[in-house]
Amino acid sequence: MARFSPLFSGSSGNSYYIGSSEAGLLVDAGRSAKQLTEMLGRIEVQPQAIQAILVTHEHIDHVRGLRVFASRHKIPVFATTGTLRALEEQGISNGSFVCSSHEMQPFTCADFEITPFPTSHDCAEGCGYKVRYADGRTLAVATDLGYLSEEVKTQIIGCDFVVLESNHDVHMLRSGSYPYPLKQRILSDRGHLSNDVCAEYLPELAASGTTRFMLAHLSRENNTPELAYYRANRSLEKAGLHQNVDYLLGIAPEANMAAQSVLF
Ligand SMILES: [Zn+2]
Ligand SMILES: [Zn+2]
Repeated sequence: MARFSPLFSGSSGNSYYIGSSEAGLLVDAGRSAKQLTEMLGRIEVQPQAIQAILVTHEHIDHVRGLRVFASRHKIPVFATTGTLRALEEQGISNGSFVCSSHEMQPFTCADFEITPFPTSHDCAEGCGYKVRYADGRTLAVATDLGYLSEEVKTQIIGCDFVVLESNHDVHMLRSGSYPYPLKQRILSDRGHLSNDVCAEYLPELAASGTTRFMLAHLSRENNTPELAYYRANRSLEKAGLHQNVDYLLGIAPEANMAAQSVLF
């Protein structure tokens, strides 16, 4: 059995650990190398255990610590060709660590079978990841998406564990203090997933066999963990499902100070 530990989530930085104490993967490295190392320490994982860093896209909240962390610990980095090009332009990949394009094709790394899938987001070539562990259990991470495309749904459906973006409450966003163009960007098809869209899709995932959900990439300004949780739970309960019986529901904290992990 593998475990999933959200290290950081949200606009101040994203990074997730998947694996055992001995070997695992990092999805994104959106906080400083120092903060990543500290948080890994809390979940009792040495940086040396990380076999690869899977990058979703080049936005700074996903790659802030990438260069220092990957080069310091000599960890190979995988991303799409578009993301790698953007990282080069940003001066993040500068030859100090090994980068490979997975070209949106499945690949294997240590005990993991990894399937990237495209996401609709305002970046060069974003993707999410489905990870199959050696024992056959599957987990998908899908954040930073303007909408749930068929390509995303095809990959996340049937996964044992789904980490899905629940970025904002539409009402809070519309009535909030963000400038109009930014609101439009977030609400667009290349923006972020709202609580409503996320919640409405959960029953379908549950029907496909998903038993564990984690809501991620919550906006600090336009959402609250309580609101996202309530909306998701209500949607699942309306479908006749019962929390802690049919499914487990969690929220990826902005910083996982309590060192929570979920087994899958
Ligand atoms: Zn982004
Ligand atoms: Zn992001």
